[in-house]
Amino acid sequence: MFQGLNFPPLDLPPECEEIRQEIRAFLAEEKARGNAGNIEAMARYTPEYSQRLGQAGFIGLTWPKQYGGHERTALERYVVTEEMLSAGAPTGCHWIADRQSGPLLLKYGTEEQRQKILPGIAAGELYFCIGMSEPNSGSDLAGAQTRATKTDGGWLLNGTKLWTSGAHVCHYMVALVRTSPLDPENRHAGFSQMLIDLSSDGIEINPVINLSGEHHFNEEVFTDCFVPDDCVIGEIGDGWNQVMSELGYERSGPERFLSTFQLFAELVEAVGDNPTDHEAQVIGRLSSQLITLRQMSLSVAGMLGEAKVPVAESAIVKDLGTNYCKLVPEFSRTIIDTMPSQKSADLYAAKMASAILTVPSLTIQGGTREILRGMIARSLGMR
Ligand SMILES: Cc1cc2nc3c(=O)[nH]c(=O)nc-3n(C[C@H](O)[C@H](O)[C@H](O)COP(=O)(O)OP(=O)(O)OC[C@H]3O[C@@H](n4cnc5c(N)ncnc54)[C@H](O)[C@@H]3O)c2cc1C
Repeated sequence: MFQGLNFPPLDLPPECEEIRQEIRAFLAEEKARGNAGNIEAMARYTPEYSQRLGQAGFIGLTWPKQYGGHERTALERYVVTEEMLSAGAPTGCHWIADRQSGPLLLKYGTEEQRQKILPGIAAGELYFCIGMSEPNSGSDLAGAQTRATKTDGGWLLNGTKLWTSGAHVCHYMVALVRTSPLDPENRHAGFSQMLIDLSSDGIEINPVINLSGEHHFNEEVFTDCFVPDDCVIGEIGDGWNQVMSELGYERSGPERFLSTFQLFAELVEAVGDNPTDHEAQVIGRLSSQLITLRQMSLSVAGMLGEAKVPVAESAIVKDLGTNYCKLVPEFSRTIIDTMPSQKSADLYAAKMASAILTVPSLTIQGGTREILRGMIARSLGMR
């Protein structure tokens, strides 16, 4: 039966404006240091920036103070995130830890794990990566084969993870591993999540160079890598449920429609105050889509804050948002058609090049379009 979609309107409460001014002041100082203007800011790794952000109290915003958090609301965190991303600040180092690994540990971790890890994340000093995908299982995550075998005091890990963003700068990975053999009748059973210290013996981290020629993601090969018992996250065998709840943090945030915002900002700047009709139409179209996507994303943030599970709505924000990011360079070129070059001194040409080389990945990471559309159809009762 067709279930319908629900995007209840949400107005930001006054405290959000206060924190917006605070983060803007912080970002203005960072801009003066050159930490601004990046396309896909979540893929830019600058440890000093993340440490200063942590010291200023902008990481772990919603977490309890006893773990280094700041007990602010999810909507205040939303505002900080949208300001950082629209400024193009290099958020890569702390991004995954703040968005999903910390919340995962708060939900499923032991008290010891929380005390050991969360204050370091909130200080902007401990960085995490996501160990889900493997050479033969991306969309089909249940096909993951990295295996943990029980041994004295812990587990021995063998297998390969792939496309792991930031593993080369991170301290820890949250890995999804098989702790029981595959059951063809129930492919989701037998998974567990483990906290892997990436400096352990038995881990080889190999760079994978992306389309832009940059080192963003990696392959990790585990060979008899020992993981102590106290690094199991949650329950052995409950990994699939845990990983699905982790994905809930991933799909509907402002990162899904702001990845090419810096190019749009550069375009508006270049066009100036007296646009032609065509320029006004293009900028109007991109602006109205951006405003609508932000409202949809805010609406999902409000529902997540009320512990609702808006699966279809989150997937729609990611699908439409990442498609919007692709439209920005496409439409911008109808106004200023420059020769894109990442090395160009012309900021518009440099950002155009980065945007063109980045956008193909946006509709793949965090679940491909086809997979998301299947989820949307299923949630709407159409499949
Ligand atoms: C920039 C970037 C960063 C990433 N970072 C991480 C990370 O940090 N950690 C991590 O674990 N992974 C990461 N990934 C991996 C990402 O999650 C996978 O690439 C993605 O899930 C797709 O898996 P795949 O590459 O194996 O492609 P496949 O699953 O092989 O898909 C190939 C094509 O087939 C289509 N397809 C597959 N199954 C179906 C189906 N059932 N119905 C219809 N179409 C289908 C897909 O939509 C796609 O077009 C990252 C990827 C990118 C691009």
